[in-house]
Amino acid sequence: MKRFEEKVVLITGGGSGLGRAAAVQVAKEGAKLSLVDLNKEGMVETKLAILAAVPEAEVIIIEANCANESEVEAYVKQTVDHFGKIDSFFNNAGVEGKQNLTEEYGAEEFDRVVNINLNGVFYGMRHVLKVMKEQGYGSVVNTASVGGIRGVGNQSGYAASKHGVVGLTRNSGIEYGQFGVSIKAIAPGAIMTPMVEGSLRQLGGDNWEEAGKEFVSVNPMKRFGKPEEVGYLVAFLLSDQADFINATVIPIDGGQSYKY
Ligand code: NAD
Repeated sequence: MKRFEEKVVLITGGGSGLGRAAAVQVAKEGAKLSLVDLNKEGMVETKLAILAAVPEAEVIIIEANCANESEVEAYVKQTVDHFGKIDSFFNNAGVEGKQNLTEEYGAEEFDRVVNINLNGVFYGMRHVLKVMKEQGYGSVVNTASVGGIRGVGNQSGYAASKHGVVGLTRNSGIEYGQFGVSIKAIAPGAIMTPMVEGSLRQLGGDNWEEAGKEFVSVNPMKRFGKPEEVGYLVAFLLSDQADFINATVIPIDGGQSYKY
């Protein structure tokens, strides 16, 4: 089944982790891709992974900072100039931020994390939704987190930003459903990507793998999720099959959120 034949998919954070996994999955199903990231080398690696699976795939890479609105406007324009449309948008770039008590979090770190994770998602929606409204169709998947639905602790900026992503999704889905555009969020639990390795290193230093085992011991599935598992979900949500799923949040966490 090729759900993305002739479809254009725009992905932020396409240079790593969940963005890369989703990019490879939709490319296998026929998508043309516009990848956006701060990390050019990461995007080149993603492009190579796509071409290894689908040698004829069309992929453009755009270096941009999602926290800067003019760069967001430019990546949207570049995608439309190149492909003529945007069928689906995975609004996914994000950072984990520091892990510590709220009083020690620091205003600068709070601003940094919220700027990337929340403002970046808002700017992305703002500019992509203009295009999709005019087209009369489109789907947007924003990346929230289990930390966007419940408190996890020691993550003030992350929790605030991801709760914000959930709020934006619920709000804008209500506005744009009438224009044929659906907007949803995913709430991943612990998926083994470079970001999660970074979080575990903050907790366990060189013993981060041990910290990881302890972390997943409370998960009903007793393991980390795999980026490909998120890729399958995102591909479904970006496809026409999920058009009637709107203004809501889908968890993918192995049941981890039972403990909150
Ligand atoms: P990752 O670190 O592997 O990938 C994130 C990518 O985003 C990187 O390539 C990075 O360069 C890019 N990025 C960061 N800031 C950017 C900016 N300002 N502009 C452009 N690109 C930027 O992490 P991941 O796990 O793939 O995370 C992807 C998304 O999933 C994030 O929003 C993250 O918060 C969310 N998430 C991840 C998990 C998990 O367990 N991995 C759980 C919940 C939510």
